[in-house]
Amino acid sequence: MSSLSSVEKRKALLKKLLVSIQKRESEIWNALQKDFGKPTFEGFLTETNYVISDIKYTISHLKSWSKPKRVWPSILNLPSSEFIYKEPYGRVLIISPWNYPFQLAISPLVAAIAAGNSVVVKPSELTFHTSQIITKIVEDVFDVKEAVVVHGGAEFTQTLLSQRWDYIFFTGSVAVGKIVAEAAAKNLTPVTLELGGKNPCIIGEGADLKIAAKRIVWGKFVNAGQTCIAPDYILIQAKEKYNFVELLKQEIILAYGENPQESKDLASIVNARHWKRLTELIDPTKVIFGGQTDEFQNYISPTIIDEPELESQLMKDEIFGPLLPIISYHDENDLHKIIRRYEKPLALYVFSNDKRWAERMITTFSFGGGCINDCMIQFVNKRLPFGGVGHSGIGAYHGKLGFDTFSHHKAIVKKPTWGDNPIRYAPYKNKLKWVKKIMNWL
Ligand code: NAD
Repeated sequence: MSSLSSVEKRKALLKKLLVSIQKRESEIWNALQKDFGKPTFEGFLTETNYVISDIKYTISHLKSWSKPKRVWPSILNLPSSEFIYKEPYGRVLIISPWNYPFQLAISPLVAAIAAGNSVVVKPSELTFHTSQIITKIVEDVFDVKEAVVVHGGAEFTQTLLSQRWDYIFFTGSVAVGKIVAEAAAKNLTPVTLELGGKNPCIIGEGADLKIAAKRIVWGKFVNAGQTCIAPDYILIQAKEKYNFVELLKQEIILAYGENPQESKDLASIVNARHWKRLTELIDPTKVIFGGQTDEFQNYISPTIIDEPELESQLMKDEIFGPLLPIISYHDENDLHKIIRRYEKPLALYVFSNDKRWAERMITTFSFGGGCINDCMIQFVNKRLPFGGVGHSGIGAYHGKLGFDTFSHHKAIVKKPTWGDNPIRYAPYKNKLKWVKKIMNWL
């Protein structure tokens, strides 16, 4: 495999990729539907449309992103002109998860190709149909020297990780992220780790509860809660909890009807293993809404769980499913105690009309990214970085940052051969005094 040196060639490949995806858009939606009942609307909004706009945006900015960037020269180097060159890393491995199986394989591929790398994509083994389409598209567009798709599970991925790569981009769980980081460290390979976490959703005093309920129900139950930046649990003042739960129930019924199992707009759980994991998290004595399950359809209804024990299994790890715990707090100390029990999350959401309080919340806690008075939509803007901090990830991408992630930034100073200042050269004699004077003056 070789790097793609010409920007024109990269643009041509991205255009071809765009056409291939546009041609297969409905095939992709069908595959997502077969894999885990993903509604076509969500397939459009969160997978194909996202990727299509990502490719168009990348094509239109690629020329300017890839140009050497001239910076102000250091006065110490004068006369000189100074630049940052963007160089492809070389051979890149992209490992992706099943929950947004198309977008999370193709979007990093777009950034890696834009930056001129050759790419091996390893999509999730759990979303077979989508992985097959990804293969067809990549085979259609790229020469094997440019990009290929390979398939396999944990063992196969570990074999891939044991090879030497110039960059590894991983999206998935924290546990596997650690395996990836360890394997990469053996060859000092740079990594991006896009991981998960337990994302708090704080409802402040005087928040617009109706709009909060509407937006949280959308954010939590889109993709049946199998979203890395979905609200994981709600924190609300005890006195507002009852009202808020009633609003949440109304919004769930509005979105998915009295029997969500009949709704065409609710995805299913990806497989029997995850269905079992999630159903085991449900304590029926704490369920105040939903709680219905169906093993044969990997179905779990949107479920609200009241005041789970913080030590319970439900509150130990990222939930990653349609279970929504609601926990009351009395003061900010409670918020600190609860949120800081966990590693830094990928997202945090605050609902409040008190701008100063909301600002304090988003600056007090450390997390990947988030919103005030909404959830999940930080993902949409290509001018915002997408990534975690601490256990929720290392590095970020989207838009230009995606291009930069897959590029080595090379510092270059261009000097003419005239105007050589002799002060730096030995013998130093009494030059120190002069250098100190100049440094103080600068
Ligand atoms: P996962 O970690 O189980 O799998 C991700 C990839 O790693 C898959 O391709 C899989 O084949 C491979 N893999 C699995 N086990 C492995 C092992 N033992 N050794 C080597 N490779 C292995 O994650 P998942 O279940 O597919 O996805 C869900 C997780 O991904 C959640 O934790 C979610 O928060 C996270 N996620 C993060 C983002 C993000 O952008 N930050 C986006 C989506 C999902």
